[in-house]
Amino acid sequence: MAVDNTLPVAVIGAGPVGLAAAAHLLERGIEPLILEAGPAPAAAIEQWRHIRLFSPWQYNTDAAAVRLLAATGWEAPDPSALPTGGELIDQYLTPLASLPAISSRLHTGARVVAVTRLGMDKTHSRNRDTTPFVVRVEHADGEVRDHLAAAVIDASGTWSTRNPLGTSGLPALGETATADHISSTLPDVLGRDREAFAGRTAVVIGAGHSAANTLLNLSELAAQVPGTKIVWAIRGASAAKVYGGGDSDGLAARGQLGSWLRALVDSGAVELYTGFGIAGLAADGAVTLTSTDGRTLEADVVVPATGFRPNLDLLRELRLELDHGVEAPRELGPLIDPEFHSCGTVEPHGAKMLAHPEQDFYIVGMKSYGRAPTFLLATGYEQVRSVAAALAGDREAADTVQLELPETGVCSSDIGSSWDVPAPANAGFVAETSGGCCGTPEPVLVGFPTGLAHGRSGEN
Ligand SMILES: Cc1cc2nc3c(=O)[nH]c(=O)nc-3n(C[C@H](O)[C@H](O)[C@H](O)COP(=O)(O)OP(=O)(O)OC[C@H]3O[C@@H](n4cnc5c(N)ncnc54)[C@H](O)[C@@H]3O)c2cc1C
Repeated sequence: MAVDNTLPVAVIGAGPVGLAAAAHLLERGIEPLILEAGPAPAAAIEQWRHIRLFSPWQYNTDAAAVRLLAATGWEAPDPSALPTGGELIDQYLTPLASLPAISSRLHTGARVVAVTRLGMDKTHSRNRDTTPFVVRVEHADGEVRDHLAAAVIDASGTWSTRNPLGTSGLPALGETATADHISSTLPDVLGRDREAFAGRTAVVIGAGHSAANTLLNLSELAAQVPGTKIVWAIRGASAAKVYGGGDSDGLAARGQLGSWLRALVDSGAVELYTGFGIAGLAADGAVTLTSTDGRTLEADVVVPATGFRPNLDLLRELRLELDHGVEAPRELGPLIDPEFHSCGTVEPHGAKMLAHPEQDFYIVGMKSYGRAPTFLLATGYEQVRSVAAALAGDREAADTVQLELPETGVCSSDIGSSWDVPAPANAGFVAETSGGCCGTPEPVLVGFPTGLAHGRSGEN
C-alpha cells in the first residue's frame, strides 16, 4: 500500500544518499522534506573533501538524480575518473541540491533530534502503522519544531559519531576531557588543518586506511616543516594487515599505500607502537596517552582513525530491528559483518531487507551499514530506489534489484574505515572470491528479488 500522500516523506540528511532518496521520491510523485543538519548539503563529505574516492564517477551518481540534472543541461563527469570528496560535492551534489525541485524542499541547519509517532510512544501498537510520524528538528535559529511525515528515511550517515579511542567501545578515561587535543578522523594536514600539525608531534591511532592516509600526508608535511614528528599507535601486534599485499594486492592503490607506509616505518620517519590499546589520556600542555600495559606516549595532537558507529539516539521511540553486533538492519547485518566478511561482501538489497517493525521507516546509506565500514554509494542508491518504490506501493519494483552493482563490494582489511585510499584512475571495485580477498576488479550486473533468506557467511 502506498503511503498517505497528504504528508511528506521526511529524509534525514542531504548527503549523496539522502539527495538520491529525494530524487527517487519526486519521480514517484511523493513529496520529500529533506532535513540537513549542516549549513549546506553534503556536510559530512565536506569534512573529507581532500580525500580521493576510489570508486569512479560511474558508481558515484544516482540514476534518478542524474535524470533530474540532465534535464537542466548538466554534463556528467568522465565516468572512469576518480573524484575527490570535494569534486563529488562541487560537480554533482551541489548542482543536484541547487535544482529548484530539490532546494525548495531542502532545509539546511535542520538537525533531527528525534523521530516518533504522533501521540504515541514506542509501547503503543494500536493504529501505529497508520499514525503519522513526528520528526523533531532543531533549526539553526535555535528553535525546535515538530514536523509531521507519512514515512521517514534516515540517511544521516555515521560521520558525526566516530568510535571512541578506548579499547572496550567506551571513551578511554580522560578522552572527553582531552577533546581539545583530538582532531577529526581525517584532518587535512597539508591544507586547512596544517597549522595544528606543522612542527608538532601527532599520534595517529588506528590500523586502517584512514590512519594510513593521514600518516602519508603527515610524512609529506614533515618533509616540508622541520620538527613535525609522526607517531603511530595500533592495538594489534603487527601492522602487516595495513601494509597489505604490496604489488600482489588486488587493489593496486591499496597495495601501494601499504608499501609506502611500510617504507616510512622502516626508515624511522614514522614511529610505530604496536599492542598499544589506549587506557587513558591526560593533558597538561601536551597530551599523554597511556596504554593498557602501562606504556606512555606524548603528543600535541591525536588523530582518531578508529571508525564510526550509527547514532541511534534519535530513533529511541521507534521499533527497530537491528543486528546485535553490527547495528545494521537485522537481515543485512550478517551479510556485511566485518568479522565474517573480510572483503565486505555486498549482496544487492532493498526495502524488504531494510525494513523494521516500524512500518514506513527505513535506515539507508552509510548508516544502514551500522558499524561495518564497507558501504558503497552504488549500494545506497539502489537502496533508496527500492525504498521509494515501496513507499509508492510498487512492490514489484521495490523487490527487484536492477542495478549494475559490484557483486561483492570492496576488499577491506580495515574495520575502522576502508574508503580513503588514494587510487590511480584505473582502480575499480574488487570482488571477493572464494579463495579469499581480492579477485578481479569487475562489476557485474545483478537482477533478482531482494529479501532472500541469508545467514552468516557460509550458512545460508
Ligand atoms: C573518507 C571516505 C571515503 C569514501 N570513499 C568512498 C568511495 O570511494 N566509494 C563509495 O562508494 N563510498 C565511499 N565512502 C563511503 C560512503 O559512500 C560515504 O561515506 C558517503 O558519504 C555516504 O553517504 P550518505 O549519504 O549515506 O552519508 P553522508 O555522506 O555521511 O551524509 C549524511 C548527511 O546527513 C547529515 N546529518 C547527520 N545527522 C543528521 C541529523 N541528525 N539531522 C539532519 N541531518 C543529519 C550530515 O550532515 C550529512 O550531510 C567513503 C567514505 C569516507 C568516510
